[in-house]
Amino acid sequence: MKTETSRRLVLFDIDGTLLDTQGAGRRGFHAALLDIFRTTGPIDSYRFCGRTDPEIARYLLTAAGVSEDQLAADLPRLWELYLGNLEEEVRDRPPRICPGVIELLDRIERDGDRLVLGLLTGNIERGARLKIESAGIDYSRFRLGAFGSDHEIRDQLPAVAVARAEAKTSHHFKEKSVVIVGDTPADIACGAPLGARSIAVATGLFTEEQLAACAPDFLFGTLEDTESVMQAIGEELGD
Ligand SMILES: [Mg+2]
Repeated sequence: MKTETSRRLVLFDIDGTLLDTQGAGRRGFHAALLDIFRTTGPIDSYRFCGRTDPEIARYLLTAAGVSEDQLAADLPRLWELYLGNLEEEVRDRPPRICPGVIELLDRIERDGDRLVLGLLTGNIERGARLKIESAGIDYSRFRLGAFGSDHEIRDQLPAVAVARAEAKTSHHFKEKSVVIVGDTPADIACGAPLGARSIAVATGLFTEEQLAACAPDFLFGTLEDTESVMQAIGEELGD
C-alpha cells in the first residue's frame, strides 16, 4: 500500500456541519421511542449532538428502565419507525445546508486525485443518506462513510472510515492525513486515537469558544472561506 504525503481522507460529520435538519431527527426519534417503548426516557435534558444514534437510544432507554434483552429485541423496529418518521419530516421541511458547504465539497471533488471525500457520523447509515439526499446533496459524492450503525462508540468510527478508504484506494491514510470536520467536541476527540487532524466548525450548537477549549487543529466559524479550509485540509504533514 502506498503512502503519499499530499493525499488526504476528508471525513465530514453531518448534523451541524453539512446541514441542519431543524430538529427533524430529534422529532422522528422522539415519536419512534414513544410508539415502541412507550417512553422517551430523559430526552428533554439530553443533548443528541456528537453522539451516535445507537448510543442515544441505549442511554435514554436504559435510563427509563428498559432491559438489555428488550433493547436488543426492539431496536431494529425502532430504527425502521425512526426512518419512516424522518422521511416524513424532511419531506415537509428539507434540511438547510450550512454556509459554504456546497462550494467546499465542489472544491474537494475537483481535487479528487488527492482528496478522498467521506462521511463520519453518528447517524445510522440510512438516516445519513436520507438527510443528505433530502438536502439536495448527491449522496454518491461521498466515496465512503463510517456510521453509527457501524459502531455505537464514535471514537471507533475513524478507524472504520480509514479501513474503507484504504480498501477503496489502496492508499495508506495515517495520522494527520486523516481529516475530520465536525461541529462538536466529540468530533474533535474521536480522531485522537489515530492522531487525525481535526477541523472544528461552529455551525452547530457549540460556540467557537467552546470548541476552542477542545483544542482542534483548526477552527472556523463557518465553512464559507473555502480557500482557508482547503489550506487547513492540505497543510503539510510535518513528517
Ligand atoms: Mg454534528
